[in-house]
Amino acid sequence: MSKNLQILPLGGMGEIGKNLTIYEYGNNMIVVDCGVMFPENDMYGIDLVLPDFSYILKNKNKLRGIVLTHGHMDHIGALPYLLRDVNAPVYGTPLTLGLVRRKLEEANLLANSDLRPLGEVEHLGPFRVKPFPVAHSIPDSVGLVIETPVGSVVHTGDYKLDETPAGGRTTDLNKLKKLTPEGVLVMLGDSTNADQPGRTETEAVVAETLDRLFKQAKGERIIIATFSSVLARLQEIIYLAEKHNRKVALTGRSLVENIELARELGYLKVPKGILVDIHASTPAEDLVILSTGSQGELRSALNRMANGEHRQVSIQPGDTVIISGGTIPGNEEVVGRMLNNLFERGAHVIYGAMATVHVSGHGSREDMRMMLEAVKPRFMIPAHGEARHLHLHAKLAQETGMKAENTFILRDGSRWLTDGKKAWTEGGLELDEVYVDGRLVGEIGELVMRDRQRLSQDGFVVALIPIDKKNKLSGEPQFVSRGFVYLKDSGKLLDEGREQIRRHHTKGAAQLRRALEDFFYRETQSRPVVLPQYIQS
Ligand SMILES: [Zn+2]
Ligand SMILES: [Zn+2]
Repeated sequence: MSKNLQILPLGGMGEIGKNLTIYEYGNNMIVVDCGVMFPENDMYGIDLVLPDFSYILKNKNKLRGIVLTHGHMDHIGALPYLLRDVNAPVYGTPLTLGLVRRKLEEANLLANSDLRPLGEVEHLGPFRVKPFPVAHSIPDSVGLVIETPVGSVVHTGDYKLDETPAGGRTTDLNKLKKLTPEGVLVMLGDSTNADQPGRTETEAVVAETLDRLFKQAKGERIIIATFSSVLARLQEIIYLAEKHNRKVALTGRSLVENIELARELGYLKVPKGILVDIHASTPAEDLVILSTGSQGELRSALNRMANGEHRQVSIQPGDTVIISGGTIPGNEEVVGRMLNNLFERGAHVIYGAMATVHVSGHGSREDMRMMLEAVKPRFMIPAHGEARHLHLHAKLAQETGMKAENTFILRDGSRWLTDGKKAWTEGGLELDEVYVDGRLVGEIGELVMRDRQRLSQDGFVVALIPIDKKNKLSGEPQFVSRGFVYLKDSGKLLDEGREQIRRHHTKGAAQLRRALEDFFYRETQSRPVVLPQYIQS
């Protein structure tokens, strides 16, 4: 049996999303977090991207438990897909488990799953898992100290070092130090903001800004869009509404559900009578509308308001619209379009560039430096970031005195090993991206994605080729197309296309397809997907 600890990330290295890390020792492994990634703009039709679970499935008899750091989708969203195929206890704090329960319920998996509250110490095979509280943009977040036979690991999870957070949960570095009296062998640290100088501002600044905006909006309606999981900020907004004598109406499914869940679990205090139905006829000046859609998501409540398609709310000149959520990289274009639409409807729009209406849930460079100096790990693995974040985090660790050879940049599938004295990487896994499109999970591979990209850019052409029993043309070939050219206006192109068919149709569908694709490219510099169809008469 191997006397080494293996750390094997299946996601979160070189990307922000689908966080999942395997810790393995001998015949035992635990999984920390099991998240999804949201698709990039060129992943047409894809709802979610999952980690490749094959390694876990192959070794499922070794799996002693799944431990969750917090309830964000990039940490819990893939659980329903993993729990279809493996049976292991899932540990988390109450809010995290509440959010997981709802996901499992939707997937009809709740009855067969084993959810357990994460205690002060969990014995999972040779691992002792001990949580410590961290400040983050969702309550009840933890980092983990994982004691292993070769030394202690600190898995920070997502964190910031906010001394005055809304909700009062600070990152407890003292507890972290107490949990690691023998020192720390290796730290996996959140790298999200490794390119942001200084410290991440406290959530208290957002509360002050919102208070000022409430005062300025006297007599007008206020609409605030934020992430449905930033419960501390939702709490702040509800308090401000009370202070300024306003009622609160909710729009957006995830928002309504999260507020309900957080209330049930005691994470959110809602003064009696302050919530009103979005249909109620509350005068505009007495109302705050809380909405989803800070990222300009197509079907979100705020985007529907911006497009004049929201059933209950139409934006009026004078409305104050506050976007209280930083734009996630990649969403700039859709957010920009939504902002333009809101301005054109006469709203007074306030967003990130104009006032501190949002702060990040992740520490910046100085916060990360403080974490490194508190933990003083022997080895360091930057996690939860794109390549640039990981490299900058490793360089930052070196500024605090770590040797470059003790910092490790991993990719998804890398196998990092340590015997407690030395550390090295060896023979990583080749992983696939697993795409979810509606009910299709993993059926869509690279080839289908390439077709979708081509279809989206150049459309398709079907060539209908009538042939007789001797494979001779028995009539005029026809073309059908979508998204390529308008056929009625393209007589000459199609005549020449028919000529190509006459010349190549006896060589078989694959050759004919290639000939037609080359022909269309030569003529138009466009590459539609071509589908030859022989019709036997
Ligand atoms: Zn998070
Ligand atoms: Zn995260």
